[in-house]
Amino acid sequence: MTLVVQKYGGSSLADADGVKRVAQRIVATRKAGHDVVVVVSAMGDTTDELHDLALQVSPLPPGRELDMLLTAGERISMALVAMAIANLGFEARSFTGSQAGVITDSAHGKARIIDVTPGRISGALTDGAIPIVAGFQGVSQVGKDITTLGRGGSDTTAVALAAALSADLCEIYTDVDGVFTADPRIVPAARRIPKISYEEMLEMAACGAKVLHLRCVEYARHYGMPIHVRSSFSNREGTWVTLPAEQKESGMDQPIITGVAHDRSEATITVAGIPDKVGAAARIFRTVAAANLNIDMIVQSTSRVTGRADISFTLPRAGGAAAMTALHDIRDEIGFESLAFDDRIGKISLIGAGMRSHPGVSADFFSALADAGINIRMISTSEIRISAVVDAADLDSAVTVTHRAFGLDDESAKAVVYGGTGR
Ligand code: ASP
Ligand code: MG
Repeated sequence: MTLVVQKYGGSSLADADGVKRVAQRIVATRKAGHDVVVVVSAMGDTTDELHDLALQVSPLPPGRELDMLLTAGERISMALVAMAIANLGFEARSFTGSQAGVITDSAHGKARIIDVTPGRISGALTDGAIPIVAGFQGVSQVGKDITTLGRGGSDTTAVALAAALSADLCEIYTDVDGVFTADPRIVPAARRIPKISYEEMLEMAACGAKVLHLRCVEYARHYGMPIHVRSSFSNREGTWVTLPAEQKESGMDQPIITGVAHDRSEATITVAGIPDKVGAAARIFRTVAAANLNIDMIVQSTSRVTGRADISFTLPRAGGAAAMTALHDIRDEIGFESLAFDDRIGKISLIGAGMRSHPGVSADFFSALADAGINIRMISTSEIRISAVVDAADLDSAVTVTHRAFGLDDESAKAVVYGGTGR
């Protein structure tokens, strides 16, 4: 007997029919002789709608209340799925994140799980019931307030529960047949990746691939929990996220590039005309960090004529206003000349463990962009990734030409997007 944790995303639960279809899948798993624990997201675009509603009553809703509101979405799903399962003759019990023992820190809107004490979930399993857990939410250890784990956080709930219950695997059900070599909404010739390592999946998720929540992959890697990402609309095999396969001694090469990810959620700030003296960059980035903003790429260039430096960096678009205000406040102290914000940018990333041992990957990447007339504004790399910032208007075509240039196109098998808006 295996224990499977299954997570169903919002597009799989878009309406009553979706809920019934998911209930059937859960019951089928049970009938096949497995123990199953289910984690659900909010139906369809409920979370976005609740968020829009909040902004209509307050431009800056308090984090505690926003979390209370948003977690309602998952509560709706969990109760409906439990009812639909009961209607199929099986017992199901729904649990909020708090009831399921998901304990977090107090950072509303982006809480981290610090402990999982799933006593009630194990109890339900022992009683022969199917536990249905509301994803994306927990309860803070200190204040006992309801928290959320950040957008897309239900994936993390699923993997954290799977680890705490010592499940055999975690299945993440979504609206595509797995993790693709690029977003099939942009590149219809993208192919499903049958198997991907935790480290590559981490880079993909960090670079904007929305199919899995970044922290869920961190968790899975930490606990060695295998994840199977697959569609709830088909029975096809999806993508396995696991430890890397043993390299064959026969010299069977792994592909150089595993996938192309893109991100539209960032913006750039340029601090121009900084006097070239020790400590200026430290002061600038200390200021941005104090606004609790994570920056990503950084480029500095110094003019030989003026002796002054320009620093550009990327950050989450949503943090732009806070960063600009904070930097403006230190303008006189540092003595820089100007400050500019640009949110019309996009980031494309090329990911693959094979690039460690292959020279020329950057050259091929930049050539593909150049041939398409796409200008590169910033570059950054890791051992297994190359990212470039381009104009937002060029992003789709950058993804398309790069995917083709690295031989990832597969014209024979058109990727299917079963639902969802990709929002
Ligand atoms: N419902 C939440 C969201 O839309 C959490 C999730 O779907 O994973 O972000
Ligand atoms: Mg998701």
